Amino acid sequence: MDSNCLFCKIAAGEIPAEIIFEDDDLLAFMDIAPQAPVHFLVIPKKHIPGPAAVEEQDQKLIGKMMQLGARMAADKGIGDNFRLVFNNGAEAGQTVFHIHMHILGGRNMGWPPG
Ligand code: AMP
Ligand code: ZN
Repeated sequence: MDSNCLFCKIAAGEIPAEIIFEDDDLLAFMDIAPQAPVHFLVIPKKHIPGPAAVEEQDQKLIGKMMQLGARMAADKGIGDNFRLVFNNGAEAGQTVFHIHMHILGGRNMGWPPG
Protein backbone atom coordinates (compact mmCIF):
# COMPACT_ATOMS: atom_id res chain seq x y z
CA MET A 1 0.00 0.00 0.00
CA ASP A 2 1.10 3.53 -0.84
CA SER A 3 -0.03 5.70 2.07
CA ASN A 4 -0.42 8.76 -0.22
CA CYS A 5 -2.58 6.95 -2.74
CA LEU A 6 -6.33 7.62 -2.88
CA PHE A 7 -7.20 4.23 -4.36
CA CYS A 8 -5.01 2.35 -1.86
CA LYS A 9 -6.99 4.17 0.85
CA ILE A 10 -10.27 3.12 -0.75
CA ALA A 11 -8.99 -0.47 -1.02
CA ALA A 12 -8.04 -0.35 2.67
CA GLY A 13 -11.47 0.98 3.65
CA GLU A 14 -10.01 4.26 4.89
CA ILE A 15 -11.99 6.35 2.40
CA PRO A 16 -15.59 5.42 1.60
CA ALA A 17 -16.69 4.44 -1.89
CA GLU A 18 -19.74 2.81 -3.42
CA ILE A 19 -18.17 -0.63 -3.69
CA ILE A 20 -19.88 -3.05 -6.06
CA PHE A 21 -17.41 -5.96 -5.93
CA GLU A 22 -14.48 -7.02 -3.79
CA ASP A 23 -12.25 -10.08 -3.54
CA ASP A 24 -8.68 -10.67 -2.37
CA ASP A 25 -7.18 -9.12 -5.50
CA LEU A 26 -9.64 -6.62 -6.93
CA LEU A 27 -12.10 -3.90 -6.03
CA ALA A 28 -14.83 -2.34 -8.19
CA PHE A 29 -16.58 0.87 -7.20
CA MET A 30 -18.73 3.56 -8.79
CA ASP A 31 -16.90 6.59 -10.18
CA ILE A 32 -17.53 9.68 -8.05
CA ALA A 33 -17.91 11.86 -11.17
CA PRO A 34 -19.67 9.62 -13.69
CA GLN A 35 -19.15 10.39 -17.38
CA ALA A 36 -21.93 8.06 -18.54
CA PRO A 37 -25.14 6.63 -17.04
CA VAL A 38 -23.04 3.68 -15.84
CA HIS A 39 -19.42 4.45 -14.89
CA PHE A 40 -17.43 2.35 -12.48
CA LEU A 41 -13.77 1.57 -11.87
CA VAL A 42 -11.94 -1.71 -11.37
CA ILE A 43 -8.65 -1.59 -9.49
CA PRO A 44 -6.20 -4.16 -8.22
CA LYS A 45 -5.62 -3.91 -4.47
CA LYS A 46 -1.92 -4.00 -5.27
CA HIS A 47 -0.50 -0.53 -5.86
CA ILE A 48 0.62 -0.33 -9.49
CA PRO A 49 1.04 3.31 -10.60
CA GLY A 50 -0.37 2.81 -14.08
CA PRO A 51 -0.46 0.69 -17.24
CA ALA A 52 3.18 1.44 -18.05
CA ALA A 53 4.24 -0.02 -14.69
CA VAL A 54 2.58 -3.41 -15.23
CA GLU A 55 5.13 -6.20 -14.84
CA GLU A 56 5.35 -9.81 -15.96
CA GLN A 57 3.97 -11.10 -12.66
CA ASP A 58 0.90 -8.80 -12.96
CA GLN A 59 -0.40 -10.28 -16.20
CA LYS A 60 -2.96 -12.55 -14.57
CA LEU A 61 -4.17 -9.74 -12.31
CA ILE A 62 -4.72 -7.41 -15.26
CA GLY A 63 -6.60 -10.15 -17.12
CA LYS A 64 -8.81 -10.63 -14.07
CA MET A 65 -9.61 -6.90 -14.15
CA MET A 66 -11.01 -7.19 -17.67
CA GLN A 67 -13.00 -10.31 -16.85
CA LEU A 68 -14.50 -8.65 -13.77
CA GLY A 69 -15.24 -5.43 -15.67
CA ALA A 70 -17.21 -7.35 -18.29
CA ARG A 71 -19.06 -9.32 -15.61
CA MET A 72 -19.98 -6.20 -13.65
CA ALA A 73 -21.01 -4.45 -16.89
CA ALA A 74 -23.47 -7.30 -17.50
CA ASP A 75 -24.71 -6.99 -13.90
CA LYS A 76 -25.29 -3.27 -14.49
CA GLY A 77 -27.27 -3.94 -17.68
CA ILE A 78 -24.64 -2.70 -20.16
CA GLY A 79 -23.06 -6.07 -20.95
CA ASP A 80 -23.37 -5.75 -24.73
CA ASN A 81 -22.13 -2.18 -25.14
CA PHE A 82 -19.48 -0.71 -22.90
CA ARG A 83 -16.14 1.01 -23.12
CA LEU A 84 -13.01 0.13 -21.14
CA VAL A 85 -10.47 2.91 -20.61
CA PHE A 86 -7.04 2.91 -19.00
CA ASN A 87 -5.35 6.32 -18.90
CA ASN A 88 -1.57 6.41 -18.57
CA GLY A 89 0.10 9.73 -17.74
CA ALA A 90 -1.31 13.18 -17.03
CA GLU A 91 -1.48 14.20 -20.70
CA ALA A 92 -3.62 11.15 -21.40
CA GLY A 93 -5.98 12.14 -18.58
CA GLN A 94 -4.63 10.09 -15.68
CA THR A 95 -5.34 11.86 -12.41
CA VAL A 96 -5.02 8.97 -9.94
CA PHE A 97 -1.71 7.15 -10.15
CA HIS A 98 -2.97 3.72 -9.10
CA ILE A 99 -3.91 1.66 -12.15
CA HIS A 100 -7.64 1.57 -12.78
CA MET A 101 -9.93 0.49 -15.56
CA HIS A 102 -12.93 2.68 -16.33
CA ILE A 103 -16.07 0.89 -17.49
CA LEU A 104 -18.55 3.24 -19.14
CA GLY A 105 -21.88 2.55 -20.79
CA GLY A 106 -25.53 3.42 -21.08
CA ARG A 107 -25.12 5.99 -23.84
CA ASN A 108 -23.70 6.19 -27.35
CA MET A 109 -19.93 6.67 -27.36
CA GLY A 110 -18.03 8.92 -29.75
CA TRP A 111 -14.73 8.12 -31.43
CA PRO A 112 -12.02 9.29 -31.28
CA PRO A 113 -12.09 10.00 -27.53
CA GLY A 114 -11.10 13.52 -26.48
P1 AMP B 1 -8.24 8.96 -14.31
O1 AMP B 1 -8.56 10.38 -14.73
O2 AMP B 1 -8.19 7.98 -15.44
O3 AMP B 1 -7.02 8.91 -13.42
O4 AMP B 1 -9.48 8.49 -13.47
C1 AMP B 1 -9.65 8.73 -12.11
C2 AMP B 1 -11.11 8.58 -11.82
O5 AMP B 1 -11.28 8.43 -10.43
C3 AMP B 1 -11.96 9.77 -12.25
O6 AMP B 1 -12.96 9.34 -13.17
C4 AMP B 1 -12.54 10.29 -10.95
O7 AMP B 1 -13.86 10.77 -11.09
C5 AMP B 1 -12.49 9.06 -10.08
N1 AMP B 1 -12.41 9.32 -8.64
C6 AMP B 1 -11.62 10.21 -8.01
N2 AMP B 1 -11.82 10.15 -6.67
C7 AMP B 1 -12.75 9.18 -6.47
C8 AMP B 1 -13.38 8.65 -5.31
N3 AMP B 1 -13.08 9.10 -4.08
N4 AMP B 1 -14.29 7.67 -5.47
C9 AMP B 1 -14.60 7.22 -6.71
N5 AMP B 1 -14.03 7.68 -7.84
C10 AMP B 1 -13.12 8.65 -7.73
ZN1 ZN C 1 -2.38 2.85 -4.70
